[in-house]
Amino acid sequence: MRPTIFILLTLFSLNQLNAQFSKKKEPKLIIGIVVDQMRYDYLSRFYDDLSDKGFKKLMQEGFFHKNAHFNYVPTYTGPGHAAVHTGTTPANNGIIGNDWFNKTSGESVYCVGDPSQETIGTNSKKGKMSPHRLLSTTMADQNRLHTQFRGKTISISIKDRGAILPGGHSANAAYWYEGGKNGDFISSSYYMEELPEWVDDFNQSDIVEEHLKVWNTLLPMNEYDESGSDENEFEFGFKGKEKATFPYDLKELAKNNGGLDILKYTPYGNDIVAEFAKRAINGEDLGQDDATDFLLVSFSSTDYAGHNFGVNSKEVHDMYLRLDRNLASFIKYLEEKVGKDEFTLFLTADHGAVHVPNYLRSKKIRAGYFDTDKLKVDIEEYINSYFGKDLELIRRISNQQLFFDHQELRANNIKNSDLQTLLTDYLLSYPKVNRVFTRDMIMHGNQTDRVGKLVQRGFHQKRSGDIIYALEPAIISYPPKGSTHGSSMNYDTQIPLIFYGKGIKRGIGLNKRHITDIAPTISDLLGIAFPNANTGNVITEALDKGQR
Ligand SMILES: [Zn+2]
Repeated sequence: MRPTIFILLTLFSLNQLNAQFSKKKEPKLIIGIVVDQMRYDYLSRFYDDLSDKGFKKLMQEGFFHKNAHFNYVPTYTGPGHAAVHTGTTPANNGIIGNDWFNKTSGESVYCVGDPSQETIGTNSKKGKMSPHRLLSTTMADQNRLHTQFRGKTISISIKDRGAILPGGHSANAAYWYEGGKNGDFISSSYYMEELPEWVDDFNQSDIVEEHLKVWNTLLPMNEYDESGSDENEFEFGFKGKEKATFPYDLKELAKNNGGLDILKYTPYGNDIVAEFAKRAINGEDLGQDDATDFLLVSFSSTDYAGHNFGVNSKEVHDMYLRLDRNLASFIKYLEEKVGKDEFTLFLTADHGAVHVPNYLRSKKIRAGYFDTDKLKVDIEEYINSYFGKDLELIRRISNQQLFFDHQELRANNIKNSDLQTLLTDYLLSYPKVNRVFTRDMIMHGNQTDRVGKLVQRGFHQKRSGDIIYALEPAIISYPPKGSTHGSSMNYDTQIPLIFYGKGIKRGIGLNKRHITDIAPTISDLLGIAFPNANTGNVITEALDKGQR
């Protein structure tokens, strides 16, 4: 290389490094938004009804990925929030479900349940939570370490797991919605001894109670062409109202639907989370100094509505139009309070959801239901007839995994791998079971096809079971109304992914990207270390290094 070129290149890369690593160039605030159960195609389906300042603004002025997917199963809320923020999958972060069977204690455990903690802000047990089952760090943890704990992390959601897992181990606070009688935002002794004043003020105000009003559509119903008819046989609705149709008098319905819990199922759950997030920015002075802060917000009402009304319902349609307006108001607030070019935001989801199988069937698309309890009984009968005696070899079926009783196997001289083979053959003859993977297959070989890879990345060697089965597409273990999720199919894996703000290019990404790519991308933007078990890749095409 000629010396002049070498000097030029060195100068160029030095300038680039100065631009990237100097603290004064970093965003003052990272906003991480997860929309619970948001399918990718909601953005295209509802596009014409969106405002200019919410989702559309992020899509048009940010970097919008059209082909972003979850890369593991099961696609549930706990694992989803963990994957977004740890940059890796259950195989490494250990969050293998919302609940799972704990082989050591012989009990089902909740992903963020922690009996050693106390509730802060109320008398119930709803605050006995912590991230102690999350094995790896989140990007916010790395930011805390990097900034000598000057950069704050505040995490907020309706759901406890939607707040706790994103914040990681070192969050200053995670807050979630208590619902019930008080409708307060609460926390755990893991984070604090008492709620700060701004949270007390919020809880003592009437903001939450005022949302017990009539829920009608935001726009005239006849403009909602992109969803099914309001009255149909595929929705649960609320107790005390015969039909799941607009309008919903929430004050009246609250009596039979858990008091203020009912707000979780309505757009007003998102309203109160958005309002609480604004107050967090103000109350915690987020984004006001050179140490980058993290504000992590998960909107959960979209998931409650999807489960209740299904992904094709007018209710879900309306909820996204209203969430769009929440986003518009939130972005405006960020621009005023933190500064137009001072923050970076990303928006994604923790999983998608399937069309109500009964609806698909009514349109001749193959779909259906699976009875897991019956499977357990059938397997036990099969085992007993095969061995010619009564054996209890299956401790639990949890998250489509069979957990063997290893003591029973030893006591009866049955090899674990022999039972794996026997039950693989049985399961493959079982109606609606599509694929079967054994512990031995996953431990001793690399899965190469799509479903196999997703199963492998969702398999934690210590925490997972002995056999994992996958159902045929659009077959779910769920009641006959409403939508659910959890599979490796595209309706569950494909989600929106948008980066927006400081250090982000404008553009549209067509290449396939994974949910685990978000954390390393934000880490790279900030020049901080990746989360410690990260397996994702930096999405370089979204980053505008020259600007920074
Ligand atoms: Zn859900």
